[in-house]
Amino acid sequence: MKILVINAGSSSLKYQLIDMTSHDVMAKGLCERIGIDGSNLQHTNVGKGTKTKIEKPMKDHGDAIQMVIDALVDGEIGVIASMDEIGAVGHRVVHGAEEFADSCIITEAVMKALEKCTPLAPLHNPPNIIGIEACTKIMPNVPQVAVFDTAFHQTMPPKAYMYALPYECYEQDRIRKYGFHGTSHKYVAGEAAKVLGKKPEELKIVTCHLGNGSSITAVDGGKCVDTSMGFTPLDGVPMGTRTGSMDPAVVTYLVNKGMSAKEVDNLMNKKSGVQGVSGVSSDFRDLTAAAEEGNERAKLALDMFAYQVKKYIGSYAAAMGGIDAVVFTAGVGENDAQTRAAIVDGLEFMGIKIDPEKNAARGTVDISAADAAVKTLVIPTNEELMIAIDTCRLVEG
Ligand code: ADP
Repeated sequence: MKILVINAGSSSLKYQLIDMTSHDVMAKGLCERIGIDGSNLQHTNVGKGTKTKIEKPMKDHGDAIQMVIDALVDGEIGVIASMDEIGAVGHRVVHGAEEFADSCIITEAVMKALEKCTPLAPLHNPPNIIGIEACTKIMPNVPQVAVFDTAFHQTMPPKAYMYALPYECYEQDRIRKYGFHGTSHKYVAGEAAKVLGKKPEELKIVTCHLGNGSSITAVDGGKCVDTSMGFTPLDGVPMGTRTGSMDPAVVTYLVNKGMSAKEVDNLMNKKSGVQGVSGVSSDFRDLTAAAEEGNERAKLALDMFAYQVKKYIGSYAAAMGGIDAVVFTAGVGENDAQTRAAIVDGLEFMGIKIDPEKNAARGTVDISAADAAVKTLVIPTNEELMIAIDTCRLVEG
């Protein structure tokens, strides 16, 4: 079966066509500036190794999906003979709230439930829903599946996901920890079990998805029991431009000083994190270069990041009553050996120790020292493949 994976944003749409026999990506691409001047599609035929940019007005996501299909079936740049070869479409959906604890085949009832989740992700869910509607219109007979960033975290127990606010805040407004990056955490936890030659049920793993946005998850027996992101993706460790956790009273303090709620939101989401602390960049490559040149604030930002991730690893080992493996993934987790080393430095007491030589390698690699009781793994994430696997599982029943 061939699965089309769609990740729709407000003015963009990313896609991959994946062959489920080999798990190979046949084609991938990006529609940019949907509904704005200068809209274009960038399409890669992976087999031929060709990249094509097509500039054409796209007034909405429907136009974008149609262009994607046209590119996929095109005699020159395409990879399939007709749309009928697409067995199913898997959509990334950011927020499934408490409605969705697993991926699901999209029906009218599912669309209604999705609308109910929208107030919790007002920026992200609407484009996801529009993407689904556009596909349903163009491919009415092709099954569609929604795969949620939040679903993997729905196994958290109440003691982990509840906030100590009055209980009505949860009952009336569904204010609680949801967690994000679930597709990535689920994928790398599953891959880690394969690398270790164990069943997921036998393992206590801390997965560290460290990218522009970062989150840490405690996976006990293959199930999420706690995660660092919260009601929104602002919580947890400091990120590229997001604060991560801090005393919530800072918000009221800033508001009392005269900032609007919108300004504080913008400050915490767009101007903070390692970018805000360093004043240099949100990119860890720039921070490392600046720190090496003696920039103290860049060094401080890196130290703060590593320290907070370290604390999550320790606290999640405590929460699970043990730890068998730590997994690093995403842009920073997969590529930044120095940051990985800084994070695990000092965790030898709990059996976590890496081999500096192995830590310099790339790809899926066990970087643990020979005498480490706990395995440390680097596993490249693949959210698109996970979406395709889930889609295939549900469609094939
Ligand atoms: P997103 O969260 O947007 O999906 P990624 O997981 O792709 O992001 O991570 C992007 C981040 O990864 C960049 O901002 C950068 O900080 C970091 N990164 C990517 N490559 C490297 C590298 N070679 N060394 C250090 N950091 C890297």
